Amino acid sequence: MKILVINTGSSSLKYQLIDMKNEKVLAKGLCDRIGLGGSFIKQTTNNGGELKKETELKNHNEAITKTISLLTDSGVIRSMDEITAVGHRVVHGGEKFCKSALIDEEVIKAIEECIILAPLHNGPNMIGIKACREILPNVPMVAVFDTAFHQTMPEKAYIYALPYSFYEEKGIRRYGFHGTSHKYVAQRAAAFLNKPFDTLKIVTCHLGNGSSICAVKNGAAVDTSMGYTPLEGVAMGTRCGSIDPAIVTGLIEHDNYDAAMLNELLNKKSGVLGISGISSDFRDLDEAAKGGCDRAELALNVFSYQVKKYIGAYAAAMGGLDVLVFTAGIGENNGDVRKRIVEDLEFLGVEIDYEKNNARGIEIDISKPNAKVRTLIIPTNEELAIARETVSLLNNSKKQ
Ligand code: ADP
Repeated sequence: MKILVINTGSSSLKYQLIDMKNEKVLAKGLCDRIGLGGSFIKQTTNNGGELKKETELKNHNEAITKTISLLTDSGVIRSMDEITAVGHRVVHGGEKFCKSALIDEEVIKAIEECIILAPLHNGPNMIGIKACREILPNVPMVAVFDTAFHQTMPEKAYIYALPYSFYEEKGIRRYGFHGTSHKYVAQRAAAFLNKPFDTLKIVTCHLGNGSSICAVKNGAAVDTSMGYTPLEGVAMGTRCGSIDPAIVTGLIEHDNYDAAMLNELLNKKSGVLGISGISSDFRDLDEAAKGGCDRAELALNVFSYQVKKYIGAYAAAMGGLDVLVFTAGIGENNGDVRKRIVEDLEFLGVEIDYEKNNARGIEIDISKPNAKVRTLIIPTNEELAIARETVSLLNNSKKQ
């Protein structure tokens, strides 16, 4: 069974073809600059093949057609009939989707109704789904939502202290993102520790260019740091995270900021880039801080301090903590940031072994042997999680 996993952006399309017999990635690639000119497809295959092909990609239909041709031309599959199903990453499922869904006309309509909640993401996701359905009309497709795992949050965690009508009429509430990753690493953590998922209090820290923290109690998400949009929560690469909303109204009143300028400021120019003035990439910040740059050091401290506060808050929300998980680019690879985050959390039972903390990108327990809380690095794999969901929905639909 071969599953094609698709993640469509406004001008890009990332894909992976996974053989579910052994969960091996047969090929992965990127179609970039779709509709912009200068477009290309880059692909790597499991036998070491690597290529970059400059080719016109007028729209997403052309990108998908050329991706499938490339998969066949490079010998990864003999024909597109080998693709059993397609799993689509969809950013926003609103309140309509608390789990993945087999795509049909009704599901398409429901996803379209969520476009207003995430126009920059769901719009392109929908274009990708429609293009795939045109090109592979007989292949079943599944939508896997970034928000779905968080739909178990209680009202007290997702309602903002705004007039209640804003929730009822505009759907303004906390939704949370990175759900596929949080669910995957939380389940992996339980399996790694050989403990039942539904008995554990877990905090998962997905720390990448975008970062979010999630509280998972007895197998279900109970709170998460991202909110109505991915802008809320901890400071990120270029996003500000949570700030006093009066800063925004002040910039409108006194500095003539409009919506576009605010979006640019809060999403692209803030975060650790804004603080350091150097880079959004933590590798650059590490180097600069080691070289004596105070603002790079400050950016690392602000980020780590904010993550630490969420861990404490979520331990309080769950009435305890059994497992702390680090994942994504920073969480998996940056031992210095992990160390900064867990410092002073001994009172909660979080104690790490600094030798083990040097590990990168592998599943490992980095806690001291007698620590009350198990602190783990669990590499995330959103594409595999999407492929597994796709297979599971296919099997369920066959049973019905
Ligand atoms: P995205 O959220 O775009 O998927 P990533 O999860 O790759 O991003 O996270 C990007 C961040 O992770 C960067 O700040 C980078 O410094 C860090 N990172 C990614 N890979 C590594 C690595 N191999 N070593 C050290 N840091 C890494």
